[in-house]
Amino acid sequence: MLGLRTKPSDSKSTKSDVMKQARRQVLDAICDFLLDNDLAITPDNLLAAHGAFAGGNPGLARQIAARQQSGARVEQDWLDEVTANQATERKDVAIERLIGKLEQNLDAFTKSSKAAHRASSDYSTKLEAHVVELEQVEDTGQIITGLADLAKAMAERTRQVEQEMRKSEEEAKSLRRHLDRAKRDAEVDHLTGLPNRRAFEALLDKHYREAQAEVDSLSVAFCDIDHFKKVNDTHGHDAGDRVIKLIGEALARISNDNCHVARHGGEEFVMLFRGLTTQEAKQRLDEAREEMAARKLINRRTDEPIGQITFSGGVANVFGYENPRAALKAADEALYKAKQGGRNQVHLA
Ligand code: GH3
Ligand code: MG
Ligand code: MG
Repeated sequence: MLGLRTKPSDSKSTKSDVMKQARRQVLDAICDFLLDNDLAITPDNLLAAHGAFAGGNPGLARQIAARQQSGARVEQDWLDEVTANQATERKDVAIERLIGKLEQNLDAFTKSSKAAHRASSDYSTKLEAHVVELEQVEDTGQIITGLADLAKAMAERTRQVEQEMRKSEEEAKSLRRHLDRAKRDAEVDHLTGLPNRRAFEALLDKHYREAQAEVDSLSVAFCDIDHFKKVNDTHGHDAGDRVIKLIGEALARISNDNCHVARHGGEEFVMLFRGLTTQEAKQRLDEAREEMAARKLINRRTDEPIGQITFSGGVANVFGYENPRAALKAADEALYKAKQGGRNQVHLA
């Protein structure tokens, strides 16, 4: 523990005293965290600790608490891994915002270009009619001929503008296709090819609304690979990545239109089950778990046996909680119990 201690509060403390005390507590927590875990005082570590203890990054706070509760120390490697995953997420959010802005601009362009197109083709048709009328005048004096020429030139120019507009519209369409592809890309986890956490949240919101309207059942699950760190430590990060992929595939095998799996981050997966009771959802997950546990894996790069890889899970009935987020939290807590119960098992919240 470090010396930045909180002064005892007295009953007459002002609002600014209270705020000062709160700030001191944040500083204490940051200092204790860095020193107790023997972490260097680097900008990245300070930023991570600030996020976790000042409330800016509750996800990280939760991960740190779980790690500390399990008795494990927060090593630099662990913190780097966890915060790197989160940095990628922040980048994804920035990309999504950018795509959103581009889409808005594109929509505005498409709308105004359509209106302009309509106006110009109306105008061009009318102009051409006038040219014909002018040319039909019997006594074509110089002024009339001049006018007809001018009108012809304008009609030609309008045609060119129309052509340019068509080209811009085509470019806008192609930009739209690229944006759609980028949007789909931003929702996929590149290691497993599964939806990522943000895509899952959107899926869950959609199924939640639908299931609520149709009085359908909906459950969520949290899965986490058991002793995964050992795989990385023994066989290397690449082999670890392949194991994550394999578990993703095992979970994807029980997925369909009403059952979705996503990579939540690291070696954690989330699932939703629609139209199944929570007990049935647990059964499905247990089947995937047993299938996985029955396999003996081999590191195909080195031919060394990796052996049995298992995962644990927690399942919660979404409608038993205030909202889907609360249900996910309950599933995460059930997962924690499955870990405590010896791993390679699924618990109900
Ligand atoms: P437990 O059974 O309690 O879940 O133990 P564990 O070792 O699986 O859990 P822990 O949280 O200690 O370790 C998870 C490890 O996953 C930490 C990190 O190094 C590793 N990890 C996270 N993301 C990735 C990734 O994308 N690829 C690889 N290879 N490893 C990752
Ligand atoms: Mg984990
Ligand atoms: Mg794990």
